Amino acid sequence: MAWNNDPEIRHLREYSKLFDAPVVVVFAIKRDGGKFSVSSYGETQQLCQVASDIGDQIHRLVTNGTIAPNIACPGCHGCGQVANTDEGEPWTVWEGLPEDAKAGVYLGVVKPVPCPECGGKK
Ligand SMILES: [Zn+2]
Repeated sequence: MAWNNDPEIRHLREYSKLFDAPVVVVFAIKRDGGKFSVSSYGETQQLCQVASDIGDQIHRLVTNGTIAPNIACPGCHGCGQVANTDEGEPWTVWEGLPEDAKAGVYLGVVKPVPCPECGGKK
């Protein structure tokens, strides 16, 4: 079996050793608008194939919509906008405030801006 020195696989190999797990499959959701990846590692060639098959199944289930993770952007929690404050909290935080706590919004000081993490894509 060829030694795979890809950084992602190196981490899966370390996880495998640390947690005594000869098969590791990781499903990851990226920050850039909900793209995902599936990585797999198996301790032996046979287990590598088992891990790869599981990863392929997961990939297929997500691609065909059988598994539809509710991928909310961590920056805006999926609303596409953040406040123009130093913290840049999701705009839904401001929308959820009681009316008497929205003075900054009514004065036009606090405004929604497109989420820098996802670019405003929901
Ligand atoms: Zn966002």
